[in-house]
Amino acid sequence: MYTVNDIAAILNTQPTSGGDSIVEILLTDSRRLIIPETTLFFTIQGPVQSANKHVKSLYDQGVKSFVVDKTFQDAAQCPDASFIFVDDTLLALQKVATAHRNKFTLPVIGITGSNGKTIVKEWLDFLLNDSFQVVKSPKSYNSQVGVPLSIWQITATHTLGVFEAGISEMNEMERLNAVIRPDICVVTSIGESHALGFSSLAVKIDEKLKLCKDASLLIYGANDNLLHQRVDAFKAIHPNLKTINWGNDPSFDVYVEDVQVMDNSTAIKIVSNNISHSYTIPFVDRASISNAVTCICVLKHLQIPVEFIKERLHHLPTVEMRLEMMQGINNCSVINDSYVNDLTSLGVALDNLEKQNQHTKRTVILSDMFQLRKDKETTYRYVAALINKRNITKLIGVGPDISAHKELFKVPDAQFYNSTNDLIIDLPNLSFQNEIILVKGARTFEFEKIVALLEFQTHDAVFEINLNALKHNLRFFQQKLQRTKLMAMVKAFSYGTGSFEIANILQHAKVDYLAVAYPDEGVELRSAGVTLPIMVMNTEEAGFKNIVKYSLEPEIYSLRLAKIFISYLESRSIQAYPVHLKLDTGMHRLGFEKQDLNQLFAVLKNTASIKIQSVFTHLAGSDDETFDAFTNEQSSLFVEMCNDIESAIGYSFIRHISNSAAITRHSDLNFDMARLGIGLYGLDPDPNISKKLMQVGTLRTTISQIRNVKTGDTVGYNRQGKVEKDSVIATIRIGYADGYPRSLGNGKGSVWVNGELAPVIGNVCMDMTMIDVTGINAKEGDSVILFGPQLSVATVAKNANTIAYEILTGISQRIKRVYYDE
Ligand SMILES: *Cc1c(COP(=O)(O)O)cnc(C)c1O
Repeated sequence: MYTVNDIAAILNTQPTSGGDSIVEILLTDSRRLIIPETTLFFTIQGPVQSANKHVKSLYDQGVKSFVVDKTFQDAAQCPDASFIFVDDTLLALQKVATAHRNKFTLPVIGITGSNGKTIVKEWLDFLLNDSFQVVKSPKSYNSQVGVPLSIWQITATHTLGVFEAGISEMNEMERLNAVIRPDICVVTSIGESHALGFSSLAVKIDEKLKLCKDASLLIYGANDNLLHQRVDAFKAIHPNLKTINWGNDPSFDVYVEDVQVMDNSTAIKIVSNNISHSYTIPFVDRASISNAVTCICVLKHLQIPVEFIKERLHHLPTVEMRLEMMQGINNCSVINDSYVNDLTSLGVALDNLEKQNQHTKRTVILSDMFQLRKDKETTYRYVAALINKRNITKLIGVGPDISAHKELFKVPDAQFYNSTNDLIIDLPNLSFQNEIILVKGARTFEFEKIVALLEFQTHDAVFEINLNALKHNLRFFQQKLQRTKLMAMVKAFSYGTGSFEIANILQHAKVDYLAVAYPDEGVELRSAGVTLPIMVMNTEEAGFKNIVKYSLEPEIYSLRLAKIFISYLESRSIQAYPVHLKLDTGMHRLGFEKQDLNQLFAVLKNTASIKIQSVFTHLAGSDDETFDAFTNEQSSLFVEMCNDIESAIGYSFIRHISNSAAITRHSDLNFDMARLGIGLYGLDPDPNISKKLMQVGTLRTTISQIRNVKTGDTVGYNRQGKVEKDSVIATIRIGYADGYPRSLGNGKGSVWVNGELAPVIGNVCMDMTMIDVTGINAKEGDSVILFGPQLSVATVAKNANTIAYEILTGISQRIKRVYYDE
């Protein structure tokens, strides 16, 4: 147990006052507050916004202890709070965690690597939790902030720690190593991913290896030559470090002699200490095989009996790191989080639920917890605190433990069941209707059965939207823009990706404005609870009623529109209604030209009904060097016209010109606001920028049938798909009515099947497409990716002779959108 004084002592200082309060929870994200009395908040400063501004609101919610840096000046506003002042709050958080770590002697496994950290961690937990009381990083908490928070969970009851360490820049590992101080280090695969912050791959490996600086053992895959070499170099400086390496060379400590991939499983033959054993895992992909071998090495080192390892490996679970949101029955939305249930991930899931405003009712289906905090009583007190402080309409608890603590939950409608089966039997009586349902359960509860019953089944093709990627891209541009405001373009169903689902995220991530093309799109967002200001680019008289009723802000692009909107407002005695003036500086689409301005001024002079919120223009070729001179002309004209407008109306307004490409290509043109469109969805014309973005959408479907077709036969309409040699042809469930362009037929396009590209053969049909899978390991029911991170939508667009915008916005509404957060 710690008091504020104890924490201050760790940091070699003293609190401003008080100091006797108990500290149980370290908080860095103000939205995750659970129990204020025992929380110590660290103001970890973000790249864009300072965390200082959260202090007062947390104080108002009851938090009384804070670690702040010298930029914090509002202590006087929080009279009875204790402040610990430090130079660097992140370093302070790490020091506190280090001190906590040093109180325990339990063995700790530290995992690093580019891919597979979370899977190896989850599998080690699965494989070892019969033999140990395991404490592990929640989700993928592996950053400079995530690691200390993970370590803080250690208590005297734990007998093994398993923690991830992830780095993206030089000099980060030393700090994580100090906090984790692992005895055993595991390096999973080293890929190119995140190589950005390092001058070379070797440098990146060396940095990762710093996690073993004080460890006694390192386990790594030696098939990777460079890794093998760097480990040897590292051992030369750290002679006490023992290693266990594995791979397909008999000279390695653990020799992978043979790998037999079967339909749904793989047999791996492993020789170590001259003894050979075969292990079977329920996966067939290469990454899973390496991750499993890594786990086997750890288990052997911990002297877990081989028979036990074999038996457990048969049941290795899929590690779902994503939180999926999908359309449910009776107009519900369902969030599927049916794989883990611990306090941290419950907090995250509930936050996510709170962001969803499209339904008025919020329901949580929650199982027992297995990762306890102290004891059951304390754990369920936390669970109840998490649930009760949120606006939840209905709670359905499943399991004996949560049922035993039902009196702690203060939810208007709460029901409890002993088992998942009991709930399934009663499900029809629960009449879910127009609500958002979070399904959150520990793996053993098999809540995926409940999800299957709640999910609305339509088409096999789905458009998966990675919300994490969207947030990543947004942060990227927010950092580029710094103080410039950001308007997110969510027209055309957010470039095909969704409406309120995306707008909710953007609202939460604090963009300044949204823009849609037509009033109806704005009405939909308002009806789903979006409160951000919304600009509407294409308004007509018929739309005025909804514009005003839903507080939407029209773009005024012509004298005619200005006049009719003003007279609409005046007839209703509305004053100072916010509008946006569009100028035509060369695009020649919509907007006032310079010679129109005097007439506009004459109209504006006689009315108080509108207020010009912003003035903007659109660039015709911001993504292309050829047009840079023209872009600059557009911009000079824009500034000139803005100045004229400002002196005519006598007040200033937001000026904006940049679209996505201009934000980075013409950063001098960002003015007061930028309008971010395609970049948000992960695309940029500049390859150097686009590689820093993440693709947001994956369009996938499945194979309905596979057949052999003989040389000389043809496939599809008009006999266009000529088979030149005996071939294997698969029919997939997607066609041009779904927005898969017909122009991709006859070999122009390809799709991604089990890691390989299969060309489209013949014409694309309305609802189906045929692909050539000759030589590819594919079977009926397999998933097929039309585009996604593996096959970029930019490439698909190029093959279809169009642009990514058209592909994305063309995906038909009959294709279900599924949202997930990694
Ligand atoms: C669509 C649109 C944008 C966004 O363009 P991107 O190239 O997708 O960033 C910006 N401004 C206006 C007026 C638009 O219509």
